[in-house]
Amino acid sequence: MRIEIINTGTELLLGQTLNTHGAWLGAELFKLGLRVARQTCVPDGVAIRDELLSALGRADVIIVSGGLGPTSDDLTREITAEVLGLELLQDAAALVSLEAFFALRGRPMASDNLKQVLIPRGAVVLPNANGTAPGVYVPPQLAGPAQAAIFLLPGPPRELYPMFKGEVAPRLQALSGVATPPDLIELKFTGIGESDFHQTLDARLAAIPNLEFGYCARIGEVDLRLIGSAAALHQARALAVERFGPLLVSDDGSSLEQTVVRLLTERRWTLATAESCTGGLIANRITDVAGASAVFTHGFVTYANAAKCGLLGVAPEALAAHGAVSEAVVRQMAEGALAVSGADFAVAVTGIAGPAGGSPDKPVGTAWIAVAQRDRATRAFSVFQPRNRADFKQGVSQAALDALRRCVLERRPESLLG
Ligand code: ATP
Repeated sequence: MRIEIINTGTELLLGQTLNTHGAWLGAELFKLGLRVARQTCVPDGVAIRDELLSALGRADVIIVSGGLGPTSDDLTREITAEVLGLELLQDAAALVSLEAFFALRGRPMASDNLKQVLIPRGAVVLPNANGTAPGVYVPPQLAGPAQAAIFLLPGPPRELYPMFKGEVAPRLQALSGVATPPDLIELKFTGIGESDFHQTLDARLAAIPNLEFGYCARIGEVDLRLIGSAAALHQARALAVERFGPLLVSDDGSSLEQTVVRLLTERRWTLATAESCTGGLIANRITDVAGASAVFTHGFVTYANAAKCGLLGVAPEALAAHGAVSEAVVRQMAEGALAVSGADFAVAVTGIAGPAGGSPDKPVGTAWIAVAQRDRATRAFSVFQPRNRADFKQGVSQAALDALRRCVLERRPESLLG
């Protein structure tokens, strides 16, 4: 079934509002086993006419969002009726609902609102409990030779979401006849590039029947997206884990920080952070996870040398001899955070975000990371992430959280009890 989405709204094209309907509808349709073949965005007003006409020549289902309001540039309803040659009639039940909507709020209804209950003859009104504009369903038999099912939905997300779930999804299920949607899993890996996957796995994944796969790269992580039958997913997952198992962060969409918090929570271990160049981003990512309070004790942001010495006990001699971005200092930061906090693990980072401050032996993008842990030697390593400041911070926080994840996984859960 070929599904096309038309999002209307001048604000979407001016960049004032992010077109989240496209993404939201794509994800909801996928849950039904359906795919969006094409998505377009047009300004308010008459621009919908051309788009609708062209979609009618291709699509089995057309979903339009927006333009059902009372103002003069809200023309979705009128132009759909015109294109299909259907008369617009006032719907008595929709009028009662509209009047009730205003009465409930003690507000007078403007006469402009009356156009919202004009419905193409034969079309079905989709009730809107959250706003004034009812949606419209034009069944395929009304759409002339095109035979496309057309759904007109209101623009505001709080109105569109429930209407889609309550009124559109069941109709699409019936129209499509898809009983069991294909499964989708996303394996999230870190510490590896998209091209490593590509070279190692592509040919083997492509040989698995009934499997569709793809990659999505972000800073410091790659998602491997697998879609297909349960058997195909099982086979593909096994291949990816066999090759890159230690780099697998999650297979349920969990972020790296969610995984770290889960692993620590399961083991009842605690964590402190000592951050210089990331300015608290690691602590922020950890505390974005619901339930982080069970594991997170302290977050030190020690940007100045004096703070590193005063709060974490970093030796001034180490700073003088090696500089703030050095293995010696990052180790002392992590060990100081561990000692001061009493946590089981402490992760520390120090680096040069740039654009200034680099030198030939420590160029912009250099960072040192250390993980200290109770009763075990501290690990330290350097990374090189020559990016803009925001991406540098993200990349360094990613490498630090992943190092922490690996250290946690290496320890037997009972090794830190008491
Ligand atoms: P209605 O059909 O109810 O009249 P409309 O198209 O007239 O809707 P607008 O006034 O354009 O609605 O938008 C209502 C709100 O919904 C605005 O905040 C707008 O930014 C938001 N909105 C509309 N379309 C989208 C979209 N595609 N993605 C995200 N938000 C959207």
